[in-house]
Amino acid sequence: MIRTLYGKLAAVFLVLLVLAGTAGAAASATAVSLYLNEVSQRLNRDLAAHLIADSELVEDGQLREAGLKHIFHMLMVINPRIEVYLLDPQGEILAFDAPHGQVLKPRVDLRPVQTLMTGDEPLPILGDDPRSMDRRKVFSVAPVLDDQGSRLGFLYVVLGGQRYDSVADMMRDSYILRLGLWGAFGALLATVAAGLLVFRLLTRRLRRLDCRMRRFADQELKTKAAFTESGGDEVDRLDSTFHQMAELIARQMKDLETADRTRRELVVGVSHDLRTPLASMRGYLETLLLKEASLSASARREYLQIALDQSERLARLVDELFELSRLEAGETRLEREPFSLPELVQDVVQKVQIEAAKGQIEITSELPWDLPFVDGDLRLIERVLENLLHNALRYTPAGGKIHVALDEGEGRIAVRVADTGQGIPQDDLPKIFDQFYRGSNNRTGSRDGTGLGLAIAKRILDLHGGPIGVESQTGRGSTFRFELPAAS
Ligand code: ADP
Repeated sequence: MIRTLYGKLAAVFLVLLVLAGTAGAAASATAVSLYLNEVSQRLNRDLAAHLIADSELVEDGQLREAGLKHIFHMLMVINPRIEVYLLDPQGEILAFDAPHGQVLKPRVDLRPVQTLMTGDEPLPILGDDPRSMDRRKVFSVAPVLDDQGSRLGFLYVVLGGQRYDSVADMMRDSYILRLGLWGAFGALLATVAAGLLVFRLLTRRLRRLDCRMRRFADQELKTKAAFTESGGDEVDRLDSTFHQMAELIARQMKDLETADRTRRELVVGVSHDLRTPLASMRGYLETLLLKEASLSASARREYLQIALDQSERLARLVDELFELSRLEAGETRLEREPFSLPELVQDVVQKVQIEAAKGQIEITSELPWDLPFVDGDLRLIERVLENLLHNALRYTPAGGKIHVALDEGEGRIAVRVADTGQGIPQDDLPKIFDQFYRGSNNRTGSRDGTGLGLAIAKRILDLHGGPIGVESQTGRGSTFRFELPAAS
C-alpha cells in the first residue's frame, strides 16, 4: 500500500508509461512490417509480368515445362526467398519450385490476385502463402496468356516479404531499428526521470504547506501537539490538518466571545457596584456642605463617619476587583511553601475575634496540632480563611456560633468553617461562587458585601488544585469546606 501522494503519482505515471510504451512499440512494429511489405510489393509488383516476358512459357497455346524450369533457376540465383507458382485460371497450383511436401495448400485464393491486378487498393495486398495453411504474404502476379490472348493461368510469385513473428525478430535483423528502439528507450527513461522530479517538486510544496500549518498552530494558536497524525497521503494529511485547525480556531473564537461577554458583564457589575457607595458618599458630603451650619455636631460626625465607611467600602471593592482580575488573568504566581494550617487558622481566628465579640458571636476552633504541613501560598490561603470567616460573621446573627475545624485524609487536609447563621437558600447555592453574585440573604448596605469574596476564594483554591464546597440549610447555618494538599 503506497502511503504518499508522491508514491501514488509515480506508480500511476510508471504504469501509464509502460502501457503507452508497449502500445507504441506494437504500433511501430506493425507499421514497420507493413511498410516493408509495401516497399517490397511496390518494387516487385511487375516481377511476375517480367518473368513471363523473359521466358517462353507458352508454346502452341500450351504451357511449356522448360520455360518454368528457366524461371525457377533464374530466381534461385537472384533471390532464393522468392517462390514461384504456376496457377490455373481457378487458382489451382499446377507447378512450383519448392521441394515436395513443403507446399501445404493445393490452391491459392484468387481474390487478392484480382485486387492486385486491378490496382484499386493501396499496397500492401497480402495473398496466400501455399507453404502455410494460414500465413499470408505480399506477392506479384501476372496472367499467362496464349497467342490469342486467352488466359491459361497465372504466374504467382510470393515475394518472401519479411513477416516477423515478434518485435524481437525484427530488431535482431535491423541495426537501424535497434538504434531507434534504444533511442525510444532512452527518451522513455528521461521522461520517467523528469516526471518523478516534477512530482517530487509539486508534492514537496504540499508537505511544506502541511508543516507550515502545523507550526502555525503550535506557535500562533499555542496548541502543543494538538493535532493527531492522520493516515493517508499528503492531501489527506493537509485536509485533516485544515479541519483540525478550523475546529481549533472556531473553539478559540467561541472562548474569546465568552471571555468578551464575561468582561462586559463584569464592567456592568463593577460600574454598578462602584456607583452605589460613591453616590452615597457624595450625598452625605453634599448635605454636610449645604447644611453645615444647621447640623448638630453629632449629626455632622455621623455623616462624616458614613462617608468614611463608604469610601472604605469603595477601596475594598477596588482592591478585591484588582485581586480577582489578577487571579483570573493568571498573573498571580503561587508562592508555594509548606506551612502549618493550625497556626494560620489560629492567627486568622484571633484577628476576627474583636469583630465577633462586637457582634456577640462566639468563635471556636478544633485544631489538631500534630497535622502535617500543607503545601500552598500562605498569603492567599489566609485570604480564603478571612473571606470565609468574614462571611460567617456577616451572615450570623448575634448569639450565633462559628466553628473552624481541621481534619486529615488521603494526603489532604480539609478545613471546615461552620456557622449557625441564616443559611443560604437552595436556589442561591450553585451561584454563590460566581463573581458579583449576592444571595437573596445579602441585605446590601447593612452587610456591605461585594459579591467577590467567594469568587476570590474559589479562584485561589483552583490555583492550588483543591476543591471548595458548601452545605447549607436556611435558618440553621452554613458549612464551607475546602481542601489543601499535604506537603510531602
Ligand atoms: P458577599 O460580599 O456578598 O458576601 P461573597 O462572594 O462572599 O459575597 O458571597 C456571595 C453570597 O453567598 C453572599 O451574597 C451570600 O448570599 C452568600 N453567603 C456567603 N457566605 C455565607 C454564609 N456564611 N452564610 C450565608 N450566606 C452566605
